Amino acid sequence: MYSRRDFLSRVSLGAGLLSLPSLAFAQHTEKKLGIALVGLGYYSEHLLAPALQQTSRCVLAGIVTGTPAKKDKWKAQFAIPDKNCYTYETFDQIADNKDIDIVYVVLPNAMHHEFVIRAAKAGKHVICEKPMSVSVKEAEEMIAACKKANVKFSIGYRMHFEPHTIEVMRIAKAKEMGAVKFVENAMGFKIGDPTQWRLKKSLAGGGAMMDVGIYCIQGARYGTGEEPISVTAQEFKTDPVKFKEVDETIFWQLEFPSGAVSSSVTSYASHSERLFVSAEQGWIELRPAFGYGPIKGKTNKGEMNFPHTNHQALQLDDFALCVQENRESSVSGEEGLKDMKIIEAIYKAVATGKKVKLS
Ligand code: NAD
Repeated sequence: MYSRRDFLSRVSLGAGLLSLPSLAFAQHTEKKLGIALVGLGYYSEHLLAPALQQTSRCVLAGIVTGTPAKKDKWKAQFAIPDKNCYTYETFDQIADNKDIDIVYVVLPNAMHHEFVIRAAKAGKHVICEKPMSVSVKEAEEMIAACKKANVKFSIGYRMHFEPHTIEVMRIAKAKEMGAVKFVENAMGFKIGDPTQWRLKKSLAGGGAMMDVGIYCIQGARYGTGEEPISVTAQEFKTDPVKFKEVDETIFWQLEFPSGAVSSSVTSYASHSERLFVSAEQGWIELRPAFGYGPIKGKTNKGEMNFPHTNHQALQLDDFALCVQENRESSVSGEEGLKDMKIIEAIYKAVATGKKVKLS
């Protein structure tokens, strides 16, 4: 049986990757870093703004929105001064605003590239939501722009700060259950409104694969602790009208250097959310595995029983600490680029019906 104490002793002695709110930096004296959210849609409103209230190193200092009514509501709710409110057109003036240290891009996928580069040019550190871009080329340009501007760059991979997930990563890397032989995972939901940007290729870049399939790619990578060397993939559509522009359901398989394999499915047709890791001497199952929590997990030894944490608050504080300590995030642009390369290979494997090698 895993206990909360086992976990806490491990992370508090660890590399400082994770800080639980109850333990978090009670004595730090640095100034809190000002965050500006770009795009005030569902994720910003319901997850990031509440999470920011739970951080110890960050403060919601600014907003960027195209909707005047949202500006008024957010200004009042979070006491944001008018000078820290921008539109997409006035956004570049953020360069002169000392209250804003970090820009967090929470826009439709195809807009990430433009706004990350504009934020970097404004001299701000940047967090970008997943998927980081809609192509490998864009992802590389975003990384280059942040390097050139000498700003830190990270992707909103909140699962890297979730205790059960961290334990999966640790077990896989340490080969604590022997070699991992296979990973099976799934992430999907039934998508509603047929007019939304997620179903438009020009804004989303792709369908379920880009949106939530990326969690399975991540799960296969941290579940094996390896980087894949090849991919095969198959696409299925039950509603060709609704999914005229983007993928509805994709199954894919990754091969890893050790011989481990993963099998994943992502879909906009129905709900699924699990991660299963099978190793020579044991197994781990997280279900649910990728949502906002509580994440539940067990192994062949019993329940994992780790605490529920606010993924976004931990992710935000970790990035703020990276900025304060002038070091790269564990979920950097390079980490996002690895997934973009795999996504492109999956789409190529779907289109060609052939195995695609990853270098
Ligand atoms: P949303 O549709 O709720 O919000 C999108 C925002 O972008 C809205 O405020 C909208 O007004 C604005 N916008 C600006 N230009 C637009 C345009 N041309 N078309 C449509 N909207 C436009 O979406 P969301 O769910 O908040 O997702 C935003 C980003 O966050 C996506 O990249 C998504 O993948 C990511 N996300 C991440 C997580 C996570 O758990 N990490 C969860 C949800 C969403």
